[in-house]
Amino acid sequence: MNGPPPPAIAVHGGAGALDDSGTSGLGPEAPREEGVGRAAAAAWEVLRGGGSALDAVVLAASILEDDPTFNAGTGATLTASGDVELDASLMYGPTLSAGAVACVKDVKNPILLARAVLERSGHLLLVGEGASGFAREMGIPAWPNGRLVIPQQRARFDAARGVKPAPVGGGTIGAVARDRAGHVAAATSTGGTFLKRPGRVGDSPVIGAGTYADDLLAAVSATGHGEPIIRITLARLVADLVGAGRSAPAAASEGIRILGERVGGQGGVIVVGPSGEPGFAYNTPAMARAWSDTAGTIRTAL
Ligand code: ASP
Repeated sequence: MNGPPPPAIAVHGGAGALDDSGTSGLGPEAPREEGVGRAAAAAWEVLRGGGSALDAVVLAASILEDDPTFNAGTGATLTASGDVELDASLMYGPTLSAGAVACVKDVKNPILLARAVLERSGHLLLVGEGASGFAREMGIPAWPNGRLVIPQQRARFDAARGVKPAPVGGGTIGAVARDRAGHVAAATSTGGTFLKRPGRVGDSPVIGAGTYADDLLAAVSATGHGEPIIRITLARLVADLVGAGRSAPAAASEGIRILGERVGGQGGVIVVGPSGEPGFAYNTPAMARAWSDTAGTIRTAL
């Protein structure tokens, strides 16, 4: 085939466990598959119209943050203190520029704050009150923590008092894209793990662990148990495997194999490399995902 490869989008809605009824315990899974499909379709329109990979992944992530089905933004899982602490990050492949926020309690769309950090802060990662203060300076309004909490998450918290924190939250979201100009971008956003200690930061806002994008390698978003993912810098590992010549699907599988074998981690990744071919892998029972095929049709799977 001649000419540049078509643009590509891939989205995940978190690697997680299914309970005996075939669900994550948060309700029916079908809305999750629909949700990732909707976000991928919206991002695809951006790419099809010549928009940038950065715009596409930010749009997909913000749609999923607003969808209460997912553990990001509204509907995020609760900490051991019973409130929501949000983490998000974003990276752009042509410039290797990145922005991230962690432990944010009063922002509706942390991915938009991560973008402001990337574009306007002169820093890469802002956390807690400093991140909130920067949000206000950027005109991002304060959003009450209680409005991020949905009744299902409150009920899950109330039912789980005294149980051990869950290693895999399920429902984290991420997006990777390649645009017509050949640039890649990646975004990841999460409420973290269920009943996490306040102040705990997982892989999602850590560049190289939860998110990585380099035009010379690939764009990657990870999900799953954050601590093992950080220890093997999973997103960068998978991007490097693409750089070394693996296809996106093969690099994703190898990254997840290493996650399981070297550090006993559970999780998943999505990848888009220079060819635009998407790759997915996970060692949990499920990972909601959506992607554009070569004809530009959005496909979904759980
Ligand atoms: N990776 C996220 C974290 O550890 C959780 C998840 O993806 O389920 O914070």
